Parts: sequence; structure tokens; C-alpha cells
Amino acid sequence: METNIFSFQIGKFQMTAISDGCFHVTKDFFFSNTPDSIISHIPDEFNAPLNFLYINTDDKKILVDAGFGEGHKPISGQLLLHLKSKGISPEEIDLVVITHGHMDHIGGVSFEGKPTFKNADHVIRKEEWDYWSERSQSEEFKRLETLKNHLTLIKSNKEIAPGIGLIHTPGHTPGHLSLSIVSEGETLLVASDILNDPAALQHLPSHINVENIPREGLLTRKRFLQDAVDKGALVFACHYPFPGLGHVRSEKGTWKWSPVTL
Ligand SMILES: [Zn+2]
Repeated sequence: METNIFSFQIGKFQMTAISDGCFHVTKDFFFSNTPDSIISHIPDEFNAPLNFLYINTDDKKILVDAGFGEGHKPISGQLLLHLKSKGISPEEIDLVVITHGHMDHIGGVSFEGKPTFKNADHVIRKEEWDYWSERSQSEEFKRLETLKNHLTLIKSNKEIAPGIGLIHTPGHTPGHLSLSIVSEGETLLVASDILNDPAALQHLPSHINVENIPREGLLTRKRFLQDAVDKGALVFACHYPFPGLGHVRSEKGTWKWSPVTL
């Protein structure tokens, strides 16, 4: 069974969950502010999944984040390879959504100073751009800066195609974006990094140690999960086990994850 690419449909949109590989993390890093009792089964160090999303609307080919990129092969940086195996070349991508500026999401946007997806517009929230531009010496900003002639900064929630909306979900970073994808009565909500691991749904203050504004992240998580339950939406989470897809349920004051199994 293929464990790098998973194709599915949301209404009329063709969707593909694509693995970029994984990245090595410590338990302390991945589960900040988390009671030991809910993560006792998790080893002190492990490889966290990296799942990203490709959307074909017929009109537009959209990529949601670009993975770690060339410098991080072979453990990650596999996204392009997997896209190509589906017959999709980087030149075909019309739009890249940057959910936030962490390297596991933006490393792949450029290579040797040039945009990887050279015909694509790249969309990022203005707060995110401002945050990284205030850190102009960071590797993240140097990577984002290579896109400056291919970048649209957005200041409010916006549809990038009919049925595909970008939603400001701050907390993990100031300009973090989630997506709401609706077609023919079906809904997919893209969490990106406001969710870290299914185990942490038992304790929503749990977050990845790079979460910028944890108090805001917690509010965002609660809102996102409630929205997913209310809409009966399928959820896509970047760092959940591949393909990162499932439904959330609210049960006795806590949340549970029902994964889509391959
Ligand atoms: Zn991430």
C-alpha cells in the first residue's frame, strides 16, 4: 500500500495528501505543556510525519505548503519527488498557500535562491510576513524573501478559488492560516500546525514548543475543533500520522480522532 501519496475527493475537487517524509523530534519539543499520562506511549525521540496537500480544482492547481526542501533529504524533502510521481511538475502549480513560516512548511519554496514553483503566486498572511521580516537574519526569512516578486500578502480571510477559503488561525504563529474547502456538501478543514498529535486532543493546551502565542493557540484549537464537529468536516493535520486525515469527535468533555485508514 502506498504510504506517501493518498488521493481523495472533496465534492468536485481532486485532493492528494503527500508526504514530505518525516522530521526527528524529541517528545519535549513536540508535546510542550502536556501531562505525561496522555503521552506515556510515545518514545523520548521519534520521527514526526510531514503531510502536505495538493488540490486540483480543474481551474487551478494549488499546493498547501512546500515541505522542508532539498537541504533536508533523504529523511524529508520528498514532496517534489512524490508530486512528480503523480505526473505533476513544479511549473504546473498555479498557487502555493503558505500556512506559516516554519522551515518544515517553507523550506521547499525555493532552491538556490530561486522559487521552486516559478509560475505560481504564493499567498501568505501579512502578519506572518511581518513577523519573519522583523527577524531578517533568520533562515526562514531568507527563504521567504526569495519569493518577494511572487507573493501576495493577505490581511483578511479570503477565497482563493470558489469554495476554498483561507482562515486566519493565529497562535502557532501570528499569521497562521488554515483552509476551509467546501464542494458539493463536503467539507475539508486544513489544520496545518494548530494540531500536533492525536494524543494531545485529550489536553488542548498541548502544543509544539515553537508555538508563538500559546494562549491564542489554545483558543484557535478549540474553535477549529468545534467547527470541525459542527460541520462534520474531514480534517487534515500536517503532523498527524499519514495521510493526516480524519474526523474529530467531542466526547465527555474531550476530543477524539478517528483517522481515515489506508
Ligand atoms: Zn510544522
